[in-house]
Amino acid sequence: MDRVKVIPVLIDGKIGYDIEVTDPGATVQEYIDAVNNFIDTAKYCRIRNPETDSCFGCDLCCQERIPVTLIDVLNMSEGKFRQFVCEMLHVYVEGRVVDITMSLDELERCRYLDNSLGICSNYRKRPLVCQTFICCPATRNANKLREEIINAGEDELVRKWFKFRDKNNNPIIHEGILPAPDIRDYCPTPFAGAVSYDQVKLIDLCNSRLWHKLTEKKRVFREIVEKKS
Ligand code: SF4
Ligand code: SF4
Repeated sequence: MDRVKVIPVLIDGKIGYDIEVTDPGATVQEYIDAVNNFIDTAKYCRIRNPETDSCFGCDLCCQERIPVTLIDVLNMSEGKFRQFVCEMLHVYVEGRVVDITMSLDELERCRYLDNSLGICSNYRKRPLVCQTFICCPATRNANKLREEIINAGEDELVRKWFKFRDKNNNPIIHEGILPAPDIRDYCPTPFAGAVSYDQVKLIDLCNSRLWHKLTEKKRVFREIVEKKS
């Protein structure tokens, strides 16, 4: 039985989704698999591309900031971490804040995007943020879970980034404003020591309120009118 379920729900009259977790052992990989399966098989409202019922050939979400996690980089870099950070990522440091994203080409599109076909040339290993983005309505708790996973994964990447230097023994920084990064700002996350998404449990990424909401039994296709916070 699936321990993470993507539940179709109606949000403001459009088909969107909620997340239900049925077991405290459920992992981030199970969450990714569930969302991927929903993307491939479910009929839902694609807000950015309402004419289609498939993401194939649509590149609209490959033209914006694409944050990456430590596990993403381990998956994509094939053991060449420093080289990958230098050549495929963009490290922006403003003061003590470090932001690491996929680097974009001169047209502000992801470097993995095959421009002629509008498809991802790295689909199997694409970052978590790509694997879990659906341009349809989602409940607040579904969005919050995704945000918590991405934020923790990004922070763990920054922690690893501190250990790598360029040829001149300087931090690898592509762009910055008065950069003064400090590793003490980045505490270990549940991703510490993990090398794959199936080693990280969802429960460790959630506060008690979010976990409680995710594990509530959901009714399929219930009418949801989300309150604006
Ligand atoms: S999720 Fe991305 S690729 Fe899919 S329809 Fe929406 S914008 Fe296009
Ligand atoms: S990695 Fe692939 S899916 Fe993700 S933004 Fe780049 S081209 Fe798009």
